[in-house]
Amino acid sequence: MVDLQTQYQHIKAEVDKGINEVIESAAFIKGPKVAQFQANLEEYTGAKHVITVGNGTDALQIALMALGLKPGDEVITPTFTFIATAEVVALLGLTPVVVDVDWETMNISIEGIRKAITPKTKAIVPVHLFGQCADMEQIMSIAREYDLYVVEDACQAIGAEYTFSTGVKRQAGTMGHIGCTSFFPSKNLGCYGDGGAIFTNDDELAQKMKAVANHGCFVRYHHDFVGVNSRLDSIQAAILDAKLPHLNEYIAARQRAAAYYDKAFANNAHILIPGREAASTHVYHQYTLRLINVNRDAVREQLAALDIPAMIYYPIPLHLQKAYQDPRYLPGDFPVAERLAACVLSLPMHTELDEEQLQYITRNVLEIINK
Ligand SMILES: *Cc1c(COP(=O)(O)O)cnc(C)c1O
Repeated sequence: MVDLQTQYQHIKAEVDKGINEVIESAAFIKGPKVAQFQANLEEYTGAKHVITVGNGTDALQIALMALGLKPGDEVITPTFTFIATAEVVALLGLTPVVVDVDWETMNISIEGIRKAITPKTKAIVPVHLFGQCADMEQIMSIAREYDLYVVEDACQAIGAEYTFSTGVKRQAGTMGHIGCTSFFPSKNLGCYGDGGAIFTNDDELAQKMKAVANHGCFVRYHHDFVGVNSRLDSIQAAILDAKLPHLNEYIAARQRAAAYYDKAFANNAHILIPGREAASTHVYHQYTLRLINVNRDAVREQLAALDIPAMIYYPIPLHLQKAYQDPRYLPGDFPVAERLAACVLSLPMHTELDEEQLQYITRNVLEIINK
């Protein structure tokens, strides 16, 4: 699905230099590399504050902890996403309220959000799924109308750009009150271990989140509330700082591969290419097809036999997960998410796909599906 070895060979000199500087300096935690990477990522994203943390799940948890929500407060998330989005809500004693997604963009349904709002609703956590932004214009407008916080799960969408109807352009993760991203190795900006970051333009929230991530202290050894320990280490920061200048080329490479796939699969009765959100660019963390009237799992097995990996993101929506079973939700309640879970197939998508590989993948997908 990804080719991190080849990618590393192209940037080896820069990455190795950064890692060696950290080792020579022995500033492994909170060293200058972390501050340098945060500043560079602030410049890249346009976020006023970037706070690096241990991983994307921690970023979401710290964001929600900083909002001062109380047990029983409701947080709206899509039911078709990676589990972390709802997991942190449940872990904090808040109530996850899941809603359906849009069949074309696979992002959270605006109509679904409106239907899910109650007097207990305090926040919306939209997910920019597979690399394109959810309908942030509508989401921010609903948030203003009902006085809700918006915490963007931008773990899959770093670098995606959203254009509001006013013409204002903003990057994924910098439109809500808080945005969260992950540097898991296979993410679009990945480190060589775990890492994550939080974005905000709000000075007060930034201070609070730094304290949450640092055992609940503003001043060392003075603990004002119960926090957590979550930080990006200096070696990961050095790797990310070496990779950040390449992020735009990486996005362009993914977009070229997606355009190849789009062209190959257009006009096939059994294949729907990813629907696009008109206001957002797509950075293709995943290239995800919807297969119609074919046995998706059999297609996947036949591809595997030809050494073509293909993955199902995600096979079970949140409301049907054992850990999240809830009398409020029944099978059939979120029909779009359930239909997607049964028909999606993500193809290899990364920065090193060449024409020969793309040709091999698309030729075989078409042969198997048209059989
Ligand atoms: C990867 C991911 C996360 C979690 O990131 P980690 O760094 O693995 O904790 C959360 N939400 C979404 C949508 C993700 O894709």
